[in-house]
Amino acid sequence: MEGRKVIGWAARDQSGHLSPYSFTLRETGPEDVVFKVLYCGMDHTDLHQIRNEIHSANYPLVPGHEVVGEVVALGSEVKKFRVGDIVGVGCIVGSCGECFSCKSNIEQYCNNRLLTYNGTDKDGRPTQGGFSSAMVVHQKFVVGIPEKLAPEQAAPLLCAGVTAYSPLKQFNRSDKVVKAGILGLGGVGHLGVLIAKAMDHHVTVISSSDKKRVEALEHLGADAFLVSSNSAEMEQAVNSLDYILDTVPAVHPLQSYLSLLNVDGKLLLVGVSPNPLQFDSVDLILGKKTISGSLIGSIEETREILQFWAEKGLTSMIEVVKMDYANKAFERMARNDVRYRFVLDVAGSNIES
Ligand code: NAP
Ligand code: ZN
Repeated sequence: MEGRKVIGWAARDQSGHLSPYSFTLRETGPEDVVFKVLYCGMDHTDLHQIRNEIHSANYPLVPGHEVVGEVVALGSEVKKFRVGDIVGVGCIVGSCGECFSCKSNIEQYCNNRLLTYNGTDKDGRPTQGGFSSAMVVHQKFVVGIPEKLAPEQAAPLLCAGVTAYSPLKQFNRSDKVVKAGILGLGGVGHLGVLIAKAMDHHVTVISSSDKKRVEALEHLGADAFLVSSNSAEMEQAVNSLDYILDTVPAVHPLQSYLSLLNVDGKLLLVGVSPNPLQFDSVDLILGKKTISGSLIGSIEETREILQFWAEKGLTSMIEVVKMDYANKAFERMARNDVRYRFVLDVAGSNIES
C-alpha cells in the first residue's frame, strides 16, 4: 500500500533548477512520524547536491535537510511524540543500528547512514528532502523542537548549527580563553560565531572580503575580523588561534590558514571542497597541528544544540523566503550573497494548491 501523495520541488538535472514534482511517501510504519513541513533551511550542500558537485545525484532530487514540521500522524509504536508537536529532521534518516558508530551514538558516521535525500530507502525508493509538503521519518531521527524556539530559527540548527557545534564542543568549558577562528562567514560560519561566542571563546572571523566586517563585529559579536587576501592582517595573526572552523565550500589554499594556528592548533574542516585540497606536511609537523574533518553531528548533539540555543537565547540571521524564490536563492548562495541563511517558508508557500 502506498502512503500519502505530496508535492516537492525537485531538481531534474545538473542545472539544479527546481520545479514542482509530485511523489508518494512510504506507508507509515509502526515507528514512523509523519509531519507537515513548516520551514526548511537552505544549505550549501543542497546546492552541491542539486548540481551534482559531490555525490552522484539521483534525479528527480528534492533537497532540504534542515526541516521543521508539525506532526500529523504517528505509527502505532511511537510514544514520544504527539500529533501537533513541532519536530525537526536533519541530514540523516536512517543507519544500521549495529555498527560501532551506531552503538556509540555517533550514527552520522555509520557506513550505512541513510541520507535525508538522495539516499535509497530500504524499499528501494529514493529519499526526498524537506522542500516538500510532508515527510515520513523513523522516530529515531526526529527531534522535538523546544517550545522557546521559533520554528524558522530552529531549522538552520538541524544541519548548519550542529555541524558547527559538534567539533566546537571539545573546546567548551575550557579553563583558559580559547582563541577561535571561523573561516567563511556563511550559513555554518555565522552560527559558528554565535556558538563560539556563547562558549566564551575569543572569536576571529576570517573572510574573503571586507563586506561582512561590520555585521561580524557588531551584530554577531565577533572580536576580530581578518580579510584572507590582506597579507599584512594575516601576518599579524600568525600563531594566534587554537582552532579554525573551516567552512569554505571551494578549493582554497590551506597554508595561510595553518600558519594562523598556534602550537597544537586544529583546523576543523567542515566545508566540502569539490576538488582535493593541498597542504605542506611541514606546516603541520613544525607546530604539532592537526587537520580534522567532521560530519554534521549526532542526533544526541542535535538535541543538545537546540537546547543550547534556547538556553543561551541566541538568534541567527536568516532570510525567510517562499518556495518560488528557491531558484533565485540558490543563485544568490552561489555568488556568496546570503546574510546568512535562507529558510524556506514551505507551509506558507501553498505548494500543494
Ligand atoms: P555558505 O552559506 O555558502 O557559506 C560559505 C562561506 O564560505 C561564504 O559565505 C563565504 O564566506 C565563504 N566562501 C564561499 N566561496 C568561497 C571561495 N570560493 N573561497 C573562499 N571562501 C569562500 O555555505 P554553508 O551552507 O555555510 O556551507 C559551507 C560548506 O559546509 C559547504 O561546502 C557545505 O556543503 C558544507 N557543510 C558541511 C557539513 C558537514 O557535515 N561537514 C554540514 C553542512 C554544510 P566569506 O564571505 O566570509 O568569505
Ligand atoms: Zn551503523
